[in-house]
Amino acid sequence: MDVIISGKLSALAKTYNMDNETFVGFMDGINNSLKDAVTIDALEKNSEITLDIDPEKLYFHMLEAKADWLYSLPQWDNLLTDAKRKEIKKAYNTSKIVVKDPKIGRNDPCPCGSGRKYKQCCMNK
Ligand SMILES: [Zn+2]
Repeated sequence: MDVIISGKLSALAKTYNMDNETFVGFMDGINNSLKDAVTIDALEKNSEITLDIDPEKLYFHMLEAKADWLYSLPQWDNLLTDAKRKEIKKAYNTSKIVVKDPKIGRNDPCPCGSGRKYKQCCMNK
C-alpha cells in the first residue's frame, strides 16, 4: 500500500498539525523511505511537494533509526492501524534476534546475562 502525499509545504504541515519547520524535519527523517528523495535544502513554505511513501517500509526504517519522535506521532493513526504497527515492530525485533543467534555456541555464556551456559538457558526457550 503506497501513500502519496502532495501539496504545498505549508498546507501539508497544517494538515498534519505541524509547523513548517517540524514538517521539514519529518521529511528529512523519512527521506530514505521515499521513491524520490526530497531536496530538503531547497524547500520553502510555498514549495510543491510530492511524497510517495510506503508506510510499512517507512515505519520499519524509523524503528531502525530509533526515531522515537517520528513513530510516536499521532499522524500515524491515519496511515497504519495500531495492530499493524505492533506487527511491524514485532517483525523488526525478530529480525534483530535472528541475526544474533548463529554466533552463539552451545557452551558460550548465555547472552541474557544469567551467567549460565547458553545450552542450559535461553537456547531451549
Ligand atoms: Zn539465558
